[in-house]
Amino acid sequence: MNNPMTVGITGGIGSGKSTVAKIFSILGIPVYFADDRAKWLMSSHAPLKSAIITHFGEESYTSEGHLNRSYLANQVFNDPAKTALINSLVHPAVKKDFEQWISIQHSPYILKEAALLFETGSYKELDMTINVSSPLIIRITRIMLRDPHRTEAQIHAIIDKQLPDEQKNALADFIIKNADNKLLIPQVLKIHEKIIRQSETKN
Ligand code: ATP
Repeated sequence: MNNPMTVGITGGIGSGKSTVAKIFSILGIPVYFADDRAKWLMSSHAPLKSAIITHFGEESYTSEGHLNRSYLANQVFNDPAKTALINSLVHPAVKKDFEQWISIQHSPYILKEAALLFETGSYKELDMTINVSSPLIIRITRIMLRDPHRTEAQIHAIIDKQLPDEQKNALADFIIKNADNKLLIPQVLKIHEKIIRQSETKN
């Protein structure tokens, strides 16, 4: 089977989308972690590296050739034109990498995990989407525990750049609720079975 269904999995910062994606991967579903892969490509893909240096300067990489993430983050964070510029360099490289990755997967469906699936419009290129939904206060608490280097104000600044959860829920085909009183595995299994059934009608 070389034509898997493509399912996006997203959610706000700290919603638990990576955690949920890992449960799908335990079920044998291949997961493309788009944000991690984008960071890897920015460090390793020579044409992308040279385009970043051309537009953002030599400071974009350390003397050892590692991506200078804090420099680039400072460059783009509050500058919509520079954000659009870096996205115009990185997105085509990730798109191509994703397409190559899909072409070697043998599975009824694959997952693409990304934080800004709805915000960037890239969900339109996928067959279905899942939104991992968690109350804001739980998300902030989780991120403060996971990322002690971030301040609460920095977490809020990231949240402000993401679509509100209600809008993501309205766009998603499936919603996984990741609050303290909800078990994840039964929700994942139910959606997994539904997608497998839909993939049987596609292939
Ligand atoms: P980001 O947008 O920052 O990548 P994310 O949506 O991928 O975040 P995760 O990294 O999966 O979120 O989860 C954030 C933190 O919360 C992690 O430390 C994770 O272990 C923890 N976490 C997620 N879900 C649960 C849960 N149901 N119970 C306990 N801890 C959880």
